[in-house]
Amino acid sequence: MAYTFKGGSRVVEHKNTKDSPIEKLPAPKMVAIPLSQHIGAPCAPTVKAGDEVLRGQVIGEVKNGLGCPVHSSVSGVVRGIVSVNDAKATPVMTVVIENDGLDRLSPEVRPFEKKLSEATTEDIIELVRRAGISGMGGATFPTYAKISSAVDRVDRLIINCAECEPFITANHRLMLERPHEIINGTKILLKALGLRDAYIAVENNKMDAVAKLEEKIAQSKMIHVCIMKTKYPQGDERQLIYAITGKELPAGKLPADVGCVVFNAETCAAIYRAFATGMPLIERVVTVDGDCVQKPRNVLAPIGASYRDLIEFCGGLKKTPEKIINGGPMMGAAQWNIDGPVTKGTSAVLVLSKEMCADTEQDHSCIRCGRCVRNCPMHLMPNYLALFARHGKYDDADKYDILSCVECGTCSYNCPAHVPIVQYIRAAKGTIKAQKSAERAKAKENAANITVN
Ligand code: SF4
Ligand code: SF4
Repeated sequence: MAYTFKGGSRVVEHKNTKDSPIEKLPAPKMVAIPLSQHIGAPCAPTVKAGDEVLRGQVIGEVKNGLGCPVHSSVSGVVRGIVSVNDAKATPVMTVVIENDGLDRLSPEVRPFEKKLSEATTEDIIELVRRAGISGMGGATFPTYAKISSAVDRVDRLIINCAECEPFITANHRLMLERPHEIINGTKILLKALGLRDAYIAVENNKMDAVAKLEEKIAQSKMIHVCIMKTKYPQGDERQLIYAITGKELPAGKLPADVGCVVFNAETCAAIYRAFATGMPLIERVVTVDGDCVQKPRNVLAPIGASYRDLIEFCGGLKKTPEKIINGGPMMGAAQWNIDGPVTKGTSAVLVLSKEMCADTEQDHSCIRCGRCVRNCPMHLMPNYLALFARHGKYDDADKYDILSCVECGTCSYNCPAHVPIVQYIRAAKGTIKAQKSAERAKAKENAANITVN
């Protein structure tokens, strides 16, 4: 029987590109590489306008704190370092590089100098940090820090190949075309964490990928493929951990608190490539789809290529777009700019017409059907949360545990009255978090005053 969790729902899959092999986008004339593509401190540039750069060269490095370096995805000349709004509309300093078309490789790019059996945990953590790898499923947490925080705390390594969001098939194609990268990346993680068992979680709408992975791991007793029920949001870390281990991850806790650590499939593959070739994270697979795109495809895109480059590679647009989304339709971020760059966290670029987008303009009313409550994977009461959020009743929303919402969008998707539940919740969460942080700062200030007095 397939592993699963409580709640969630089947969504229309739209996996139009599941049979589209990964195709390499020729590196564009210009790339715009943001200096912050991860959770944590932004990088400081290590290059300036006019500098020549090589493919794979470090162009930004974090001086202090959490974060990982960024590298050039082309060889060429830095034309400027400018502020560009990222996928969440936050201004980020961005290195603009004119591609010289010569594809000159940086001498920094070289395979790891030891065999895996000789590598220490510290060696692997440093390799992953230097390669600039951050969670490629969209979370963008620096991977070296995740490994580091899991050492001696976890007994289960889970590789997330669920890919439960509609439209996206990038991981599916990766499993079919490069299963060895995922499996070898898993072995590197096992070595770093000192574990003997890893679980690769794949939804049962990708049984061809399950067969491919099982064929490749036939000789390995350490790696197991777990077949998951196809249900949204199966790829959410909490649901995956519950489905495989039966352990519930309380709100505010990390997977390591229940002995688990979860890495995305493409993150695993990037770790393997860094180990085998020394290539840092400078390209990724992006599903380009939506009813406005002429020929939806899976594209291997250099980091810093624009959405426009990808769309043109897919034959351009056939309809007027209403919305461009970075990521999936359930949890992705709507974009304001078609020239925005592909980053380490861009799993998909979707271009949807008005007919495909939910009607969010009208003020809809709840008809109290209870569907959102039945389907919420976090066992919340989305109808009440939306109501409290809409009327600014933040204390009530907090009492009803709004901060445990993972913003999966299942409630909005299933709502027959089209109440934009998750939008209300997201906005209220932002306000409540800001209020709590101001209260903490005030309490700290008061405590300091009491000590001084
Ligand atoms: S309330 Fe939050 S966690 Fe529950 S279904 Fe809605 S978006 Fe998902
Ligand atoms: S699904 Fe929509 S209409 Fe039904 S209870 Fe929830 S908010 Fe109300």
